[in-house]
Amino acid sequence: MQRWGISESRLPPGSTIYFRDPSAWDQYKAQILAVTAAILVQASLIGWLVHERQYRRRVERAARETMSELTQLNRMATAGELSATIAHEVNQPLMGMVTRANAALRWLSGENPNVGRAQDALNQIVAAGHRASDVVANIRAMFRKDAQEKAPVDLNKLIRSVLGLVYMDLRKRSIETELHLGEHLPPVIGNEVQLQQVILNLVMNAIEAMSATEPRVLSIKSARTVQKTVYVSIEDTGSGIDPSNMDSIFKPLFTTKARGMGMGLSICRSIIESHGGRICASAGASRGSIFQFELPVGVPSTNSTSPSAANARGVAQDAIPA
Ligand code: ADP
Repeated sequence: MQRWGISESRLPPGSTIYFRDPSAWDQYKAQILAVTAAILVQASLIGWLVHERQYRRRVERAARETMSELTQLNRMATAGELSATIAHEVNQPLMGMVTRANAALRWLSGENPNVGRAQDALNQIVAAGHRASDVVANIRAMFRKDAQEKAPVDLNKLIRSVLGLVYMDLRKRSIETELHLGEHLPPVIGNEVQLQQVILNLVMNAIEAMSATEPRVLSIKSARTVQKTVYVSIEDTGSGIDPSNMDSIFKPLFTTKARGMGMGLSICRSIIESHGGRICASAGASRGSIFQFELPVGVPSTNSTSPSAANARGVAQDAIPA
């Protein structure tokens, strides 16, 4: 039939074909299917690998572009944050100097100039000038490779120096001050300018929070805790912190003030944490708020702590939180 070119379809129905030559398909059907399947699998694998390679290259290119954008953004953010920090830290002593200079001018003008008070104000201007220069020196030190200068720091002395700096603000706003400073407080190891900055920030915030409230009482406590830390709390009778803002106040750039920068508390937290301590805020007993920080004791001391008699109103010393 093959020789004469007779196709199977032309055979009458019911015909039977004998001695048929099996075709390659009939003979090697399984092998052909296997080889075809293998080729298909291989082709799809190669296709997938080529696609993968192109995809990886695209992703790598995108990642490189994103990386360079991020580096640029990061540089800008760091520069922005740094300038905000410098502006914030230097602004406070500058504002203090302007206020004191105005006061000195007032005391020197008029028919009976009060030279003594003008001298006081000028001395405070000199102190604030030194503080501003310390702050700048400290910010420069932050970017030097060598470790920052740390030494034993007497926190009670720092608290008193800050109260000296804000003395005018306290008087001007009729704020009463209560001090409960622990006696024989052991020193902490730290950077004096930075820790003074923390206390000053917290005190300035307390003063600002009390601008529209009565009575105005600023209460500062310090003590040694059983966990070998020194504890400082700064309490005010001001507007208090909205509970919904409690989680945000230590974040950079968070502020509820019209002219605030929202850097003070975030700087305080980073300084305290870089000294191995912790800082937190809570609502005041009846009103206002309490900011407290704890720092590890630098030098072991055997002296026990008891509250000093510095409290002019005889308020009892609070229990120091464990
Ligand atoms: P700024 O003073 O520039 O706003 P801060 O970081 O010092 O920045 O403070 C952030 C926010 O925390 C303030 O805007 C205020 O809402 C809140 N805050 C800080 N201290 C007090 C305080 N003593 N009483 C009430 N709210 C406070």
